[in-house]
Amino acid sequence: MKTLSVTSLYTCGHCKRQLPPEAFYTVRKTQRPSNYCKECRKAISRRQRTAEKTHLLDAPTLPLSYPVITDIEEKELRMRLIMKAIRFVQESVERKRRNEALRMMNEE
Ligand SMILES: [Zn+2]
Repeated sequence: MKTLSVTSLYTCGHCKRQLPPEAFYTVRKTQRPSNYCKECRKAISRRQRTAEKTHLLDAPTLPLSYPVITDIEEKELRMRLIMKAIRFVQESVERKRRNEALRMMNEE
């Protein structure tokens, strides 16, 4: 007699297909199959990578307005604004570094 192992099929949360466990990656943390099947996972990460690339290319307008600052006539004010912008960048770099260090500690 043929036993249909319907119970061992998982439904992909993305394409809604019922697939065997082999079609899913195992989540290391939970040791359970991921919510999305391998195909969907791949499609999603590919799309995300493309989106990131496009985002980087499409983002010439940073919150920092260097070109505008250098248009300012008054020399002293201009210098002050530039210094402020530099400090802003340094602070955000430091914040990022701190967050990374924290994350590494948590992962260990
Ligand atoms: Zn899927």
